[in-house]
Amino acid sequence: MSNLRTLFLRHLGQTSPSPMLVEVESAKGSRLFGPDGQDYIDLVAGVSVCNLGHGHPKVLEALHQQADRHLHVMVYGDFVQSPQVRLASRLAELLPPTLDSVYFVNSGSEAIEGAIKLAKRHTRRPGLVSMRKAYHGSSNGALSLMGDERFKRAFRPLLPGTRLLDYNDFGQLERIDHRTACVVVEPLQAEAGAILPAPGYLQALRQRCDQVGALLVFDEIQMAFGRMGTLWGFERSGVVPDILCLGKALGGGLPLGAFVAPRPLMIELSHDPVLGHITTFGGHPLSCATGLAALEALLHERLLDDIDRKARRFLDALPAAPITEIRGTGLFHAIDLGSSAALFRAMELFNHGGGIVTDWFLFDDHSFRFAPPLNITDTELDLAAERVSAVLLKL
Ligand code: PLP
Repeated sequence: MSNLRTLFLRHLGQTSPSPMLVEVESAKGSRLFGPDGQDYIDLVAGVSVCNLGHGHPKVLEALHQQADRHLHVMVYGDFVQSPQVRLASRLAELLPPTLDSVYFVNSGSEAIEGAIKLAKRHTRRPGLVSMRKAYHGSSNGALSLMGDERFKRAFRPLLPGTRLLDYNDFGQLERIDHRTACVVVEPLQAEAGAILPAPGYLQALRQRCDQVGALLVFDEIQMAFGRMGTLWGFERSGVVPDILCLGKALGGGLPLGAFVAPRPLMIELSHDPVLGHITTFGGHPLSCATGLAALEALLHERLLDDIDRKARRFLDALPAAPITEIRGTGLFHAIDLGSSAALFRAMELFNHGGGIVTDWFLFDDHSFRFAPPLNITDTELDLAAERVSAVLLKL
């Protein structure tokens, strides 16, 4: 094992007993390069972060320009910092008119924390509803919404008043009631293994929330910025949430999260008590500058127009066996190999010698991800299909 890997295992806090241990020396476009000449096609994009691939020139230009101007100058909320203002204004322009106030934080989990607090503050209710097999983050509040008791048990007590529903079960919607502050839901359940909402489900959820006065919160931390083929995941259903949570690709590769809400709602966090939600690094000027550059490049390069074609090009080139099912949309798919043993073997081969970086899902250990950068080229897609097929045919 290389010296760096040994030190990684010794000195970095670990997340699992079996990390991928892919060593990265550099990255460009949809390729990752190891220290000994290994080259991988990136099919996971840093878990939906690197939508423009690695080292996009516009993102790097914005990063350097902002670094020359200033880095951190003040905690979030007091100074007028142009990268924050420009990104928030652009997001508001691209979102439905009600979603016009952006609160910047550092991560997806923090966006969820902010949304939970805002919903409780506004409704004065204790209840939080989320979905089975949902992942919303690892902080205490976000973990309280996690859709699987196995991940929560060791950390209890968590937030009280939480309730889980089965995604797509219309019959359970009546469990959302007058004690519910908010319902937190994804427009596609990512970590469940790319589960799409059933036709009419998000509309029914919206209707039920309106009926009982609960807020509807969409976690688009993985799906926003084109993953589903549209800029926002909610565009597919036409359902507009009360609060939208963003993260991952929002910062163009730098850490950034946000929750977005109507201004009259958001303003409640600023009084009674004053400083109801504060953050030191939220909306870091570097992250906002790279986030805006990434967003403009995504739109300017018209990447959304080509997403479905790219997905088909790759998926159609795969062998039928041993794949049991392919789920998802846009450039977010779960390729199901039918068993965790098959997936485990495939992952070994992909990441070590197969020239592919991918990952599995938190609640689906039969499937691997096809979620590459949105600007992956046809040449990279063809090579990825060739490499993935070579591994699958060995299983
Ligand atoms: N929500 C979803 C849907 C996610 O996929 C994630 C992270 O994977 C989060 C929230 C938490 O984001 P972060 O890891 O930035 O805290």
